[in-house]
Amino acid sequence: MGNKCKMYVDIMACNPEVTGSCFLCVLKLPDRQTIKFIVDCGLFQEEEYFCFNNDFPFECDNIDFMLLTHNHVDHTGRIPLLYKKGFRGKIYTSKTTKSLLPLALNDSYKVLSEIYKRKNLKRLYEEKDVDMALEYVEGIEFNKKTNVTPNIDITFLENGHLFGAAMILVEISYPDQQPINLLFTGDYNNKNYFFEIGDIPKEVKDLRLSVIIESTYGDMSVKEVNNDFFQKKVIQAVSERKTIILPAFSLGRSQEVLLEIKNLQDSNVLDKNIPIYFDGKLAHAYTRILLNFEIKEFLPSNLTFVDSEIRETLLNTEDTKIIVTTSGMGTYGPAQVYIPYFISKKQSLILFTGYTADGTLGQELKEAKQGDFVKIGGLVCKKNADVAYCNQFSAHAKQEELIELLNKFNNLRSVLINHGEKHKKQIFAEKVLETINVHNVAILDREYFFRIGSFGIIKSLSTKF
Ligand SMILES: [Zn+2]
Ligand SMILES: [Zn+2]
Repeated sequence: MGNKCKMYVDIMACNPEVTGSCFLCVLKLPDRQTIKFIVDCGLFQEEEYFCFNNDFPFECDNIDFMLLTHNHVDHTGRIPLLYKKGFRGKIYTSKTTKSLLPLALNDSYKVLSEIYKRKNLKRLYEEKDVDMALEYVEGIEFNKKTNVTPNIDITFLENGHLFGAAMILVEISYPDQQPINLLFTGDYNNKNYFFEIGDIPKEVKDLRLSVIIESTYGDMSVKEVNNDFFQKKVIQAVSERKTIILPAFSLGRSQEVLLEIKNLQDSNVLDKNIPIYFDGKLAHAYTRILLNFEIKEFLPSNLTFVDSEIRETLLNTEDTKIIVTTSGMGTYGPAQVYIPYFISKKQSLILFTGYTADGTLGQELKEAKQGDFVKIGGLVCKKNADVAYCNQFSAHAKQEELIELLNKFNNLRSVLINHGEKHKKQIFAEKVLETINVHNVAILDREYFFRIGSFGIIKSLSTKF
């Protein structure tokens, strides 16, 4: 059999902006065999793209396998839908992500069922699809090359974005052909509050490589991070005897916020008599799992895990208190109870601790002026509370840190930019072209497949769905 035609892989991102992460990769081998795999399979959370949740721009039953970078809903939320639509391949992920995934998928199922019921729409998938998906998950160790098909090896590299988060290296080989090496950064951070991150192995740095990189904060400098804001805001609100609501994501962010509160207590900046409340079933469940990991202690003193009974009493006291609650963007979870209640009270601070996507309550409140009326879950409320946003806990690398990551690679051919708002992807693309020694730079979205060979991008192909 002649090897006249060279192998290549066509890559398309299903998500135009941040949420709904999912790459379709179609590998054509010289023997005309086709291997299809996807990387991540997340939920669309931006209102504008919510309708994309119903289907995939590809047939699911001929996908061979899936790679999962980390356990965030914008990367995992539609995994069960894949199985409902006929996918029966394995999901390769890190061992930690494997241990966290059942909680995430079962929770997404409940949240989505509620949303679709509210919108009077048919459920996306059933509980049995969640169970089936979980049976196909395989946990992989970090830094250990694993063979997944005769021509494809994968390696999970350490990543500070979240417990268990990985960058995934995909090495494609074929006899007498130059290999194709792809690195999917997933959501990336160069540091983590709880654990150390090892450097990328030298043999990976030396590979001829195409990197598919996130750009959530591709336009933002590390200088724009305000590391004092959270402390100043919380301490001031405590001195004014306010109730402080801290919406936080259930995994990672909640625990970071608790650790930060503990640090403030330990350094005597925050009075230990101020009660700390922690609400959110999923956040509680993750916290219980994480307490068994070998990470630093993060629970502050005077902490109460809140159930629905305690929640009700919290709404009826004026005392100074700090409530860490899910969801991080304010739209789901007990935040749906606290925010409508406390938003109209001048004696409260609502301090968002993470990214708020367009169309979420967190973002709506940002856009509303003080004294404006806002509609929250059907309730009309006046914005009297102090609503603020801090960026110090960000789990995403900033522009300089993303560039620093790319600079680690000695033979970088192409950079493909994903997971960012449109204008941020553009700004980051320009920065990469200006500062990095790279053959070509592309912006991924649903409009193009990029054909990648051993030496980087060969061409782009328009998609029409
Ligand atoms: Zn993430
Ligand atoms: Zn993400």
